[in-house]
Amino acid sequence: MSFDYDLLVIGAGSGGVRASRIAAGLGARVAIAEERQLGGTCVNVGCVPKKMYVYASEYSEHFRGSTGFGWEAGDVPAFDWRVLRDNKSEEILRLNGVYARILESAGVELLQGFARFVDAHTVEIDGKSYTAERILIATGGWPRVPDIEGGDLVLTSNEVFDLDTLPRRVMVQGGGYIAVEFAGIFNGLGCETELVYRGPLILRGFDGEVRQFIREQMAAKGVTMSMNLDIESIQKRTDGALDVRLSDGSVRTVDAVFSAIGREPKVSGLGLERAGVELDARGYIKVDDGFQTSTTNIFALGDVIGRVQLTPVALAEGMALARHWYDNQPLRMDYESIPTAVFSQPSLAAVGLTEEAARDTCGEVDVYVSEFTPMKHTLSGLAERCLMKLIVRREDQQVLGLHMAGELAAEIVQGFAVAIKAGATKADFDATIGIHPTAAEEFVTMRSPRA
Ligand code: FAD
Ligand code: NDP
Repeated sequence: MSFDYDLLVIGAGSGGVRASRIAAGLGARVAIAEERQLGGTCVNVGCVPKKMYVYASEYSEHFRGSTGFGWEAGDVPAFDWRVLRDNKSEEILRLNGVYARILESAGVELLQGFARFVDAHTVEIDGKSYTAERILIATGGWPRVPDIEGGDLVLTSNEVFDLDTLPRRVMVQGGGYIAVEFAGIFNGLGCETELVYRGPLILRGFDGEVRQFIREQMAAKGVTMSMNLDIESIQKRTDGALDVRLSDGSVRTVDAVFSAIGREPKVSGLGLERAGVELDARGYIKVDDGFQTSTTNIFALGDVIGRVQLTPVALAEGMALARHWYDNQPLRMDYESIPTAVFSQPSLAAVGLTEEAARDTCGEVDVYVSEFTPMKHTLSGLAERCLMKLIVRREDQQVLGLHMAGELAAEIVQGFAVAIKAGATKADFDATIGIHPTAAEEFVTMRSPRA
């Protein structure tokens, strides 16, 4: 049987674009379907605009901290939300164009529109049918909205980047990556910010001591951190503000509620049942180790399979699959020791095991911790501190986990992640000469484990 394409990818986000252009570069006839903007969540409503807004929000402290270094800054300059928003949009438009050119030069055909399955080899887009030998589902995720009275009044990460005006008072719901990052953004941009989290401590899954540290540091910077509390209902007032009723019975009046309570796989309307593609118990597309779904010629990767929802992971999955199919390479996807960062303020980054996980699974461990005021803040007068932590298996002295909360944590931990991945021991860290004066050198000069 002959098909229009060797490979048809649904979704031009991180994973889909990578898989399609590598496949086309290896000689496959490839098409990619996209209903929105090229680049997907990360480029349009995720990593990229988020990081730009983090940078923007950090300036308020830069201005404040500069006086200790002799700058007579006077008042913190006024902030114009629309300038930031529009400059961000312009840059993203440029990135959309870069993606279009990358696909075009790789020879990938772009099919603009919403794709749905007709059968296992056929997809319909805008009334036209296309057939392919293999179909790859890379449709990503979508923000979950709270199932409460007034749940439709919340902002999610889909809307927040393009608001007409910046709210004066914001309540942030959730304690994961997005909630913590946006609480820092709103606070830094001058909004009165309260983070409301249903559990006892934000950032479940990260090292307990680091989570506690980030919570305290965020509070010190002015975010009201309300734990063991959740939103029960939201009502719009006649003046446009929102009355938020909380689980302890109290009511707060705010201008916006930003909800970040996780993301769901984007599968609705895809017609998976017509292609025989099954979902797992959580609603994600079910795949085996080779990313194969319950239908042999249909595959899925990235956020829609619900493994590790990070851009570099979707990219690696896409690359591994394309090379496997069209360059006969073994399909190897290694999910061990994936470094990750939360662009909170201060930021947090980690690779490997938390202290809790290491104690549970690896027997005796030595823990090295250093908490200090970074040199910059000795003069800035700002309260920000830095926490660094190494988890070492006592038996063979392998470094199992490395954690940092502080300025440039993501940049620093990315480098150390190579050492962790390579199985470095504490002796390797000790044998490494530091770069002085930096915060990072602390990781190679920690001498005594915590008693
Ligand atoms: P996506 O990038 O979501 O792409 C899916 C694409 O498929 C979309 O373009 C969508 O329009 C399209 N699509 C869906 N259904 C159809 C259909 N039926 N027909 C046609 N097209 C369709 N990760 C990090 O590593 N670092 C970060 O700092 C980071 N920050 C984030 C901040 C936010 C606010 C959010 C929401 C996410 C962030 N992430 C971050 C996560 C990261 O964005 C995702 O893990 C990544 O984008 C997943 O890639 P993907 O290819 O699986 O899906
Ligand atoms: P997360 O899964 O990280 O966090 C969701 C948060 O919402 C948790 O604190 C969770 O609480 C809480 N929650 C879940 N359901 C409810 C509910 N019904 N009511 C109240 N609270 C609820 O999701 P995010 O939305 O923050 O981000 C999605 C994913 O995107 C991340 O997991 C990450 O993979 C990726 N991402 C990565 C970033 C990065 O790399 N820097 C940045 C942003 C996103 P509990 O812990 O109690 O379950």
